[in-house]
Amino acid sequence: MTAPLSEEIALLDARDPLAPLRDRFILPEGEVYLDGNSLGVASRDALAALDIAARAEWSRDLIRSWNTAGWFDLPVELGDRIGALIGAAAGQVVVADTTSINIYKALHAAVGLRPGRKVILAEEGSFPTDLYMAEGVVSTLPGMSLRLEGRDGARLEDMLDDDVAVLLVNHVNYKTGALRDMAALTRAAHAAGALVVWDLCHSAGALPVELDAAKADFAVGCSYKYLNGGPGAPAFIYVAQRHLGHVAQPLSGWWGHARPFAFEPGYEGDAGIRRFQCGTQPILSLRALKGALAIWDDVDMQALRRKSQSLTDLFIRLVETQCAGLGLTLDSPREAEARGSQVSFLHENAYAVMQALIARGVIGDFRAPSTLRFGFTPLYISHADVAHAVAVLKDVLAGETWREARFSTRAAVT
Ligand SMILES: *Cc1c(COP(=O)(O)O)cnc(C)c1O
Repeated sequence: MTAPLSEEIALLDARDPLAPLRDRFILPEGEVYLDGNSLGVASRDALAALDIAARAEWSRDLIRSWNTAGWFDLPVELGDRIGALIGAAAGQVVVADTTSINIYKALHAAVGLRPGRKVILAEEGSFPTDLYMAEGVVSTLPGMSLRLEGRDGARLEDMLDDDVAVLLVNHVNYKTGALRDMAALTRAAHAAGALVVWDLCHSAGALPVELDAAKADFAVGCSYKYLNGGPGAPAFIYVAQRHLGHVAQPLSGWWGHARPFAFEPGYEGDAGIRRFQCGTQPILSLRALKGALAIWDDVDMQALRRKSQSLTDLFIRLVETQCAGLGLTLDSPREAEARGSQVSFLHENAYAVMQALIARGVIGDFRAPSTLRFGFTPLYISHADVAHAVAVLKDVLAGETWREARFSTRAAVT
């Protein structure tokens, strides 16, 4: 690193209003963790909450904790907490199940609100589970079909017509980081008479989201990425107030019943967002998530966005200057406004390059067939981390250390 650059980076970190938050996380010693978009790191708040939940609430108070520790209300309490981060007024978000399952519920619910319409519109480049779940929904509804951007047409906006019941769309593309204009696309869908399900997996906690202002209908997202809820932490689902009360969801479990503890025969869905629950939820995970969400009381979302853009801009700039001629091609939007909090580069040997980086303590991830993906969680990543990661990337590429045989052995999870 040249002196002026190291000074610039030190200054960026010194002026970072979010810098003090870093100490609230448990960061791997000597490593730079750029995979918070796959699994966010543990926070001290999350572990403390988990400890109380395990030792006091479960071990000591047992069944009483459903009432005394607020377990029963956790899904809606945390739903409101997440709602505040994604521009949703209270009562429209519940934490439950997985993103995949919530996609199923939301798609079914949306189709039910648009009788006579026979198409689910989605993106061929969407996260695969979104399409797998859409296929599942289609398989249960005779006459329904799936229309895909990238296969059946070039642009979602041009593929909306009277047949489309619902548009399922990723707010930030998981591979490239490209960010959709939520308000504009929702407007276009509504103009065609369709509803929209937004997948916020790569935007919740990564940038400001304004669901109510955009007049979104449904949204889903996970809590183990930028929200740092822990591995397999439950997901969330948003249903706009105007749809609640007359919307059906197909997984009619007792937790979505209007009176679950009346043990009545026959399902009667709750009139509010609780209807979108199904069965008993993973309380330990919810308690860890509750701890993890405490940090957001101290985060200004505009400052978060500014830092995210500063980190990703710096990463692109340093990679393109320091790793020029080493086989990398930017696969994310160059304009900061057009991307989320991640940056991807293509490389012919991306899998081995990522393994070599991980061996050197720079943790990103690989997405088939040739993407090197780097996530920048503004709560705990510094500009110095970015500079270090690029220096290691340059070393690995220039020295061709990724050619070692051990870096080409594939594990089950990439
Ligand atoms: C991570 C991710 C998911 C994950 O779904 P799970 O059911 O939690 O495994 C779904 N959609 C998108 C866009 C994702 O990025």
